[in-house]
Amino acid sequence: MAVTSVIVIGAGIVGLSVAFEALQSGASVTIVDRDPAGDKASYGNAGGIAVTEVIPASVPGLWKKVPFWLLDPLGPLALRVGHTPQMVPWLWRFARVGSASEVGRISKALASINSRVYDDLVPLFNKVGLAGDLFRRGALTVYETENGFLRDEHEWEIKRALGVEMQALSAREVTDMEPALGPIVQRGVFTPQWSHITDPKKVVDVLRMWLVANGAKIVQGQVDRVYSTGDGAEIALNGGTTLAATKLVIAAGAWSARFARQLGDRVLLESERGYNTTIAAPGVTLEREVIFADRKFVATPLSVGLRIGGAAEFGGLQSPPNFKRSKALVKLAKLYLPGLREQGGVEWAGHRPATPDSLPVIGRSSASQHIIYAFGHGHLGLTQGPTTGKIVGDLLFDRSPSLDLSPFSAARFSFRKEK
Ligand SMILES: Cc1cc2nc3c(=O)[nH]c(=O)nc-3n(C[C@H](O)[C@H](O)[C@H](O)COP(=O)(O)OP(=O)(O)OC[C@H]3O[C@@H](n4cnc5c(N)ncnc54)[C@H](O)[C@@H]3O)c2cc1C
Repeated sequence: MAVTSVIVIGAGIVGLSVAFEALQSGASVTIVDRDPAGDKASYGNAGGIAVTEVIPASVPGLWKKVPFWLLDPLGPLALRVGHTPQMVPWLWRFARVGSASEVGRISKALASINSRVYDDLVPLFNKVGLAGDLFRRGALTVYETENGFLRDEHEWEIKRALGVEMQALSAREVTDMEPALGPIVQRGVFTPQWSHITDPKKVVDVLRMWLVANGAKIVQGQVDRVYSTGDGAEIALNGGTTLAATKLVIAAGAWSARFARQLGDRVLLESERGYNTTIAAPGVTLEREVIFADRKFVATPLSVGLRIGGAAEFGGLQSPPNFKRSKALVKLAKLYLPGLREQGGVEWAGHRPATPDSLPVIGRSSASQHIIYAFGHGHLGLTQGPTTGKIVGDLLFDRSPSLDLSPFSAARFSFRKEK
């Protein structure tokens, strides 16, 4: 029987995880990326394996908070005015999924992926030589007030019902766990299932090099068009080169929507730009990732330093980054970590591939069963990458995926499906 050939567009954590599964299943694999080893969301993210994050971004009552966030020029949410008209369909869908019933449905779908993350991630890490790069130390969510803690109680209940383990903590218990945190912290929640990694860049670099060492081919090039050829697929690169394979996977992160459009599928996908600063010698020590719930940012103790990050900026893929956001996050972190030394921080920004319902797009294209989508992981691409790889591997080789993929179908965005 002929060996299945697979082209994967995108050398981020999702594309590389798909390539890993395809290679393990005996396919000949080509990964195409305009800058295979270069900067991307998968390279500079916060490094959290955030399996407990099953609540979507759009929730009931959010619209009361949004105007306050938008009024603060360096607050947790920003919409760049020039881009907003293009975002109307996305925002419309975002508003529509913010009902209690939709939050229930979406949370279950996210939990169906997140509950098996370690089953897929740990074997991948072990196989490629990253066994020592995963720290299963849980995470700490901290609050400045009792009210803040109570405000999130309903979301914690939803999480608990979906299998998330948690332990509510007093201020004293929080500082016993993380002595670097200052007196601003009044309450906390410890989530032991969360973990973090040494360095996202290291993970994608090691995985990519392992793939090459084990037979995957990497082609550097900008993909212009994708085509279904009936019994396979073809891609055209800028400059005219074409490549063909029996299967094609689109894993181009925030840039994926145009390829879906070329195949007749409308998907709602936006860049949700996030920012961070990594301080190599921060002067404080954290054991685990800390989530600052009131002000919507995180700090992760990576091997390259303390990474302080967050923000959600919707300005399209072309707008220049505003690194004042990275600086603002360090100032906020100083409120919680009084001993933090701000000097020598390295600032970074990256495009999260965001769908309005916070669910990734994983499944076959409507144009061809040989072309598969794997993008739109928003805040959870590192967490869900290896599991997405496993699911896509099942689709590539006609095995039945062990979870219901209907919530992740691109068809949910089609005009015909809108009720
Ligand atoms: C500030 C921040 C913090 C985050 N923290 C976390 C976290 O703690 N935990 C977590 O799970 N997730 C986190 N995320 C989200 C996570 O980083 C992303 O969901 C994930 O990296 C997306 O991976 P990807 O492979 O889909 O896309 P990317 O990493 O963006 O890779 C896409 C690749 O496609 C290539 N490409 C695009 N278009 C083309 C083309 N036309 N031709 C050729 N190549 C192309 C690009 O060059 C790129 O290499 C964070 C994101 C940000 C921004």
